[in-house]
Amino acid sequence: MAFVDGVAREHFTQAAGCQEGIIWPTGRHCPHCGSVASSSLNGRTCRPGLYQCRDCRLQFTVTTLTPMHGTKLDLRIWICAMFLVLTSSKGISSVVMARLLGVNQKTAWKVGHAIREMMDDRNGELMPLEDIVEIDEAYVGGAPKSLSGAYNPPGKGTGKPMIFVAASRDGQARARVVPNDQRATLEPVLLEWIDPATTNLMTDGNKSYRGLGKTMADHQYVIHSQKEYANPETGAHVNTAEAVISQVQRALVGVYHNLGRKHLQRYLDEIVWRWNHRDPVREVVKQWTTKAGVERQKSTTIWRPIPVVDQMRVLLQGAVGKQVRRSRDYGLCWP
Ligand SMILES: [Zn+2]
Repeated sequence: MAFVDGVAREHFTQAAGCQEGIIWPTGRHCPHCGSVASSSLNGRTCRPGLYQCRDCRLQFTVTTLTPMHGTKLDLRIWICAMFLVLTSSKGISSVVMARLLGVNQKTAWKVGHAIREMMDDRNGELMPLEDIVEIDEAYVGGAPKSLSGAYNPPGKGTGKPMIFVAASRDGQARARVVPNDQRATLEPVLLEWIDPATTNLMTDGNKSYRGLGKTMADHQYVIHSQKEYANPETGAHVNTAEAVISQVQRALVGVYHNLGRKHLQRYLDEIVWRWNHRDPVREVVKQWTTKAGVERQKSTTIWRPIPVVDQMRVLLQGAVGKQVRRSRDYGLCWP
């Protein structure tokens, strides 16, 4: 876009100014050094929205050091792509996204992964899981192609990647790709997510959880091989964690058929984001009057996604520092 006359430039800058507040909610700051002292560059050859830091003297715009850094796409396409990723319940494939946005499939694939990169919690903005936490593991991915010669037996010993999931019963979850289900592998991951002194851990009968449970405030388990899926006395079950895993399986079966193992963690981040950004709402599902004339009603908790505009705001606020670039062979690289 060329802004030759001052009116158009001013209009653009004003519009951009109110949008920039989404990335910089506490005011403009330099992504290179974090300084809040910067000035707008308004020369004839400067593109709109360009600033210079008064401390490190580096120039920046609102997309600097975010996954949108150096993009040739219109930012409106990015916003549309975010909307599509956030509103599709099982994720959206790059082929469909390309069709809807009018861009190349490879572009849509990169945009999709850049958005998933913004959804990860690497910077630890998330609070630890609290109270009752269920953990479970699963092998994900479909059967290998018949001509590939690979054979993946079900359960342990399979060549499929393993994921480790923790879900608290108040609606928050975490997921990680792990190499195996040994205690030594799972413990450091779990300790990033929870506080062992206050956690009531719920697991299935897997032996590596027994030792792990001893370090927690409390540990209850159900033994699936004995057809025990919930214990009414202790309240033990891992159905919440299994629900998260089923979301992963659904997304893999329904949308992301051909899933690179090296990108699996990013797909998990997307699914867990969707799980974490919901609010419980008590809703009446049935109302009736008994023969004695007493009004009765039955209500249930419905988990509603939080409004997509609010989710987008959270997504953009965490965007700085999560730069993703395209590698020469159309892969991804992290500068
Ligand atoms: Zn600076």
